[in-house]
Amino acid sequence: MDNSKCSSMGSRIVGGETLGGFIGFANLPNQVHRKSVKKGFEFTLMVVGESGLGKSTLINSLFLTDLYPDRELPDAEAKIKQTVSMEASTVEIEERGVRLRLTVVDTPGFGDAINSSKCYDPILEYIDAQFERYLHDESGLNRRNISDNRVHCCFYFISPYGHGLKPLDIEFMKSLHNRVNIVPVIAKSDTLTKQEVNRLKKRVLDEIAKHNIKIYQLPDVEDDEEEDYKEQTRVLKQSIPFAVVGSTTTIEVKGRKVRGRMYPWGVVELENDEHCDYLKLRTMLISHMQDLQEVTHDLHYENYRATRLDPENTVEPVAKPGKPSGNTDAKLREKEAELARMQAMLAQMQKQLKMQNDGQQTHNL
Ligand code: GDP
Repeated sequence: MDNSKCSSMGSRIVGGETLGGFIGFANLPNQVHRKSVKKGFEFTLMVVGESGLGKSTLINSLFLTDLYPDRELPDAEAKIKQTVSMEASTVEIEERGVRLRLTVVDTPGFGDAINSSKCYDPILEYIDAQFERYLHDESGLNRRNISDNRVHCCFYFISPYGHGLKPLDIEFMKSLHNRVNIVPVIAKSDTLTKQEVNRLKKRVLDEIAKHNIKIYQLPDVEDDEEEDYKEQTRVLKQSIPFAVVGSTTTIEVKGRKVRGRMYPWGVVELENDEHCDYLKLRTMLISHMQDLQEVTHDLHYENYRATRLDPENTVEPVAKPGKPSGNTDAKLREKEAELARMQAMLAQMQKQLKMQNDGQQTHNL
């Protein structure tokens, strides 16, 4: 693997065998690259959807590492009682000097339990808890070294077997869309013909529009961007929802080693645009990591912060990142001033405590 290494972090041992090739975030456009070299990325990706839709497989295929080596699958009886349990795994990947600290939050079991309404509450709570933690850290003394565990992107897995979104999908996406960047994906698209994929994509997009669900919008390209980049963005925009296939198996096809799924009638290749949108999804994620982070900070986190700091503030989330309404803006400034006062008080208290401690030590001597 090209100058890359994976190591495990956090409480679970993760990482492990890599499958050759590299992920590609070292190939970010130069400008972004320079910034990232210095800081490194902290990125959190969440995957949600019914179990069995290939979430873990896709994640493992995307990041070339087995994030869930010792996952046990629950038996049928356990499934009925199962509540949503969150699993966060962190890997640190380095590629040509660019560091990525990637956390993947899996939500196994979602939609499995028979009474599945509200089964997604723990997922929303998890997202909010990360905002709360950031808010807390941001108002603390060590503001420069905050680690960012906020969820920057959520792959929402849509079943290939239905005729579009299920009522639960609609309800859940609406609860998620003001909190996180939703990227819808059609799972296991190798089970559908090209025509069926197109039909399902159209249906899903229509339903998203009909129910006013806000999904992540790729930013518009600037006029002075390179033609290749413009074209890439156009293709990516057109491909949403991405029809994906996951696999961690390497198969030899006519002397080439490819990752794919082998069927009696042939091989479905992940990295073949004729077969699925896997590469597009990966490109979207890698080339827009920074934008996903910025939208998380400027839009979703700001919404959370505004509501959290003023529970009576029921202002509808702002439409454009970084452009809060005047009212919200003023309130935010007020709260910021309040936070600064609290910080000063805290610093004062700590100083006093230290002086007391020092005094006590001298006394003990
Ligand atoms: P999860 O519960 O959503 O994490 O699903 P898993 O990743 O554990 O996959 C469930 C099953 O679906 C496994 O048997 C996988 O081999 C299979 N699977 C995963 N991805 C795909 C895919 O893209 N296409 C097909 N046909 N099967 C898949």
